[in-house]
Amino acid sequence: MDFKIGIFSIHPFLEMILKQEGIPFEDIDQDNFELINKYALIITDYDESDMIELISEKFHNEILVINPTYIAKRYFELLKTRTPRITIPLSEFYKNPSFKSALDRSFLADFYGDSGLFKDYKVIRIKNNNENIYMLSISLEESFLFDKSCRKQFFDFRKELPSEVVGKKYIYEIRNIILQTINIILYSKNIPLIHKSYIPQNSLFIFRIDTDFCTKEEAENLYKLCQKYDIKATWFLDTYNEKTIRELYAKMADQELGFHCSRHLVFDNYEENFQNIQSGLSILKKHGIKPKGYAAPFGEWNSYLQKAIEKSGFLYSSEFSYDYDNLPSYPIASNVLQIPIHPISCGRLRRSHYTDNEKIAYYKRVIDEKIDRNEPVILYHHPHHKKLNVIEEIFRYVKLKKMQNLTMNNYRIWWQKREKRKLEYVLNKDKIFLQKNPKIPLIIDYEGKRVIDNFSESVKYKDLEYKNYPFFLKNDPKRQEKWNWRNWLYKYESWKGRRKV
Ligand SMILES: [Zn+2]
Repeated sequence: MDFKIGIFSIHPFLEMILKQEGIPFEDIDQDNFELINKYALIITDYDESDMIELISEKFHNEILVINPTYIAKRYFELLKTRTPRITIPLSEFYKNPSFKSALDRSFLADFYGDSGLFKDYKVIRIKNNNENIYMLSISLEESFLFDKSCRKQFFDFRKELPSEVVGKKYIYEIRNIILQTINIILYSKNIPLIHKSYIPQNSLFIFRIDTDFCTKEEAENLYKLCQKYDIKATWFLDTYNEKTIRELYAKMADQELGFHCSRHLVFDNYEENFQNIQSGLSILKKHGIKPKGYAAPFGEWNSYLQKAIEKSGFLYSSEFSYDYDNLPSYPIASNVLQIPIHPISCGRLRRSHYTDNEKIAYYKRVIDEKIDRNEPVILYHHPHHKKLNVIEEIFRYVKLKKMQNLTMNNYRIWWQKREKRKLEYVLNKDKIFLQKNPKIPLIIDYEGKRVIDNFSESVKYKDLEYKNYPFFLKNDPKRQEKWNWRNWLYKYESWKGRRKV
């Protein structure tokens, strides 16, 4: 069987996720409906039940319909299927993944139970005569509001959790919910999912530095540490002190230089954002620095800023109010790649009363989790926070784990090469045959487990050594969502910080 997912009228965000995952898919040719049985799975978010009926009549495999709950309810009425009862809370199911048990029954599952984090997302399996139509209830339009941000607490094992103002929606989790739903459906047919690796090698470490008006000495000390551990970092420069730019940054041949700010602010109009960027860029230009990347002050993002980033000719940007912890993507109608990072800096850990040892333990755990999930580890630091002892331990750990180190721009180059390289494969009995080899590592998901492999032509997928991997980064929604009185304090601090500029 030629493995491809057929898509029919899907939302741009869904397409974005399939591309991030590197899953082969193509549009269904509506004039050639008899060909649709070549697909292993059809995904649609079309809300006209006639068309779904038509597809389900002609199509013998599984159909995944992704729709908001109100549309799912309408389907149940139309299909005269009784509303499925809750049988398996998916949070439990994911903790102890038993794909078989989920598929034996219709299920309606709440992600994360009652805590509210995911209460709008449900997976519903309905049986309509002999067809298998699955419904994943996510309101894509609402889930992908990139211009909303809020303070979120991040997981740790200790009592007081670190927090940061980041994108309000759970885009990382939605991507994983959709991936796992596809995996569950394919597993019902006993076939694996092959997709492109998220990183060039086994593990990837990227170090981002926002200079934020640090002294020359602070920048120099951090630079020396990078050199000691052979770390090529990406420095997002402020243009406050030209002397430091001339005498230090302009001479860093082994590091990447990006642009952070002239004034440390993001505005809610195009003109001021554009001017702020242009005035900084003209200073950098005087010193021969032409940045390819941009990272906004406070990780803030809005559509006016996005336009200013595009008009300024940047090739990528990185704002955690847009997206964090996730894989790269393009904001709608933009060709400037957005590269999300893990947004908790040493400064945020300090505000949550972490000792240095706790900070080191925090970062080591984040690194381990991301390595386990094949995701890039992108951490960031401000030279004026010093804490070189913590950073040194991170670098040591990166070396110990033999992680590949790239600059953000080099990761962008690799990611865009990945986009262009086609993956096509055929499944024949227990073998995967590559028809188009993207020549990057491949992820094989099967039975809720994962393996990364570099095979060149064919492989027996049942013989591979799969490992369990967590479906999400570690979390504890009950604690993470709990109101923290300190949020008022942080809000005040950030208001005060903005007035100083
Ligand atoms: Zn900054």
